[in-house]
Amino acid sequence: MKDVSLYIHIPFCKNKCFYCDFPSFSGCDGKMLEYSKALGMEIDKIDKDYIIKTVFIGGGTPTYLSLDGLKYIKESIEKLNLALDVEFTVEGNPGTFTKEKLELFKSMGVNRLSIGLQAYQDNLLKSIGRIHSVEDFEKSYKLARECGYKNINIDLIFGLPNQDIENWEYTLKKVIKLNPEHLSCYSLIIEEDTKFYSLFEDDKLRLPCEEDEREMYLKTLEILKENGYNHYEISNFCKPNKECRHNLVYWELKPYIGCGSSSHSYVDGRRYYNESDIEKYIKKINKNGSAIIESKKIK
Ligand code: SF4
Repeated sequence: MKDVSLYIHIPFCKNKCFYCDFPSFSGCDGKMLEYSKALGMEIDKIDKDYIIKTVFIGGGTPTYLSLDGLKYIKESIEKLNLALDVEFTVEGNPGTFTKEKLELFKSMGVNRLSIGLQAYQDNLLKSIGRIHSVEDFEKSYKLARECGYKNINIDLIFGLPNQDIENWEYTLKKVIKLNPEHLSCYSLIIEEDTKFYSLFEDDKLRLPCEEDEREMYLKTLEILKENGYNHYEISNFCKPNKECRHNLVYWELKPYIGCGSSSHSYVDGRRYYNESDIEKYIKKINKNGSAIIESKKIK
């Protein structure tokens, strides 16, 4: 028996955020069911000798996947050998999950949620292409707590266009009041092939100056420390013993298996990754049972 972590990729999003270069797509909802079936087939191939120590369903927006699609994934996960103390996270966006979906996740063994908020100002959310408002976030967070989720991460971004130090402090303070167990605070990076990249090239993005961005980062360290959050990794902060074990697997170069389009794996001395095009991924799985497009043996 060998310990391993499992990453499952859901590539669907309602809309594409202006800063995002993740392998996620909008306008492909018609492929959800076929994709979920193919994904289930790929998960079914995982050797039952592995003990799965952590599971992370990320994306994309896993909570945007249809309930029927999620049921296929649940069926396959139930056949795996999950560790008794498994950390099982699902990523989601406000406004894309319902009580029914949260209950289905619970029945799959999910015990950690990661919710993308990014900022506590509706105008900023709109200007970065998020699909939700602050109110949607508050409702989703409340619903998650009511459904019994006791380990919640909130994703935030600083250095956004038109964001100032006060906006950022306000965001941190409002989020802390909700008492999440974990916070990820990322600094905005303008990536190629994003809407923000084109705007940046055309000099149409009003980004905070370097000094202000540095000040936002220092404020983050100060405010989170004062409020009992431990800074355990560059962008990650948590309450005692609430580190994300799945993230640490990547940092500590431990083995992980990736399933789904664009996913990467590092297991049994081999690194490999999957096709990123949704349609090609489905075809490859249906035809060969695998969508690996490159594989390398690591010495
Ligand atoms: S919801 Fe997440 S994955 Fe989807 S476009 Fe926005 S940042 Fe990217």
